[in-house]
Amino acid sequence: MFKGWFRRRATVTATPSNSTYRHGNDTLIELRNVTKVFETAAGPFTALDNIMLNVDRGEFVAIIGKSGSGKSTLMNMISGIDRPTSGEVFIGDTAVHTLNESEMAVWRGRNVGIVFQFFQLLPALSLVENVMLPMDFCNMFTPRERRERAMMLLDQVGMADQAHKLPSAISGGQQQRVAIARALANDPPIILADEPTGNLDSKTAQQVFTLFEKLVDQGKTILMVTHDSDMARRVSRAVIIADGRIVNEYVAQALPALTLDQLGWVMRHADIRTYAPGAVIIEQGSQADNFYIITSGDVEVFIEHPDGGEIIVNHLSTGSYFGEIGLLRQGRRTAGVRAGFATGCEVAVLDQHEFHTLLAESEATRNTIERVARERHSQTQAAAHDDM
Ligand code: ADP
Ligand code: MG
Repeated sequence: MFKGWFRRRATVTATPSNSTYRHGNDTLIELRNVTKVFETAAGPFTALDNIMLNVDRGEFVAIIGKSGSGKSTLMNMISGIDRPTSGEVFIGDTAVHTLNESEMAVWRGRNVGIVFQFFQLLPALSLVENVMLPMDFCNMFTPRERRERAMMLLDQVGMADQAHKLPSAISGGQQQRVAIARALANDPPIILADEPTGNLDSKTAQQVFTLFEKLVDQGKTILMVTHDSDMARRVSRAVIIADGRIVNEYVAQALPALTLDQLGWVMRHADIRTYAPGAVIIEQGSQADNFYIITSGDVEVFIEHPDGGEIIVNHLSTGSYFGEIGLLRQGRRTAGVRAGFATGCEVAVLDQHEFHTLLAESEATRNTIERVARERHSQTQAAAHDDM
């Protein structure tokens, strides 16, 4: 279902970053080494495994992943509905994981608007009363202002004319729009939406999504769990979760034909290594052993001549891989690779066994990598020839 959609994003994800999940200096949400272990009858179950995530103010982030991968658990860590077993959650200057229950409720009421898949409006209250509820709860605004503000918010979502109806009298899409108005009641900087369109037909889902886009334009920061790959393409960033881990976005970009399961497999097996500026990663002539995906910084590919000269044959940056030629030929390295001189690099590394396992699993990935290897090899040969 998500196959191939990174290809399109790849053209817009040109953001250079010095650390893998950092996207600027205006961080609003920061998860540091967040792990969540549930105690179950079958023993401890790790739902989130050492999550590192930074979200900037004003970002619209889609969270995608299979059912059971940990998306809702992640959202609950950010909203403070649940707590990490270990690790830290910062929202702005607030260390959310350290708040006690009553501090948490007030903090959440003012800072996070939550939208659920099944709307969860109170059935006995009118729509306008539902929207007023968070203001009542957090004692925001005067009672008179609360009603005016609720009407203004209902107007913003196109529901003002039905303000006095009960939730049961309107459609699912309308209920979700009211739920969004309710999420906005205290003007929180963050909206968390867990599959907000999961229970809506596609036309209504589009309207809800458009509403979120409008809110992002107004400065809100939104995290939205979605199964809809079209929507995931239209947000500023997609975070993929597989088996409780975040799939590095550049790994996903480098190997766009992989399924979510296969990406999860890569994340479990890859070693992350960093190289200082100019450090040699691959020595020309050495026996090929590893496959590398650049997750930060860049590299240069070079060939040496017996006379001591050197030719740069390629520059590669985040979302590119290298090391495939030697592995496919099961031979010696035809060129050297070193970390870029400006920032160095970070790479995700698979060993040759893991590399071949992956290619056996994904024929599309094999075909692409083999084609890239052929093109690069002839490029290198040509460069070597030109020079002689
Ligand atoms: P998603 O939202 O991606 O479908 P969840 O975050 O709801 O996934 O759940 C992730 C995993 O954690 C699932 O395997 C689920 O069964 C498990 N899990 C979630 N909540 C609990 C809980 N309270 N107790 C035990 N296991 C849980
Ligand atoms: Mg869920």
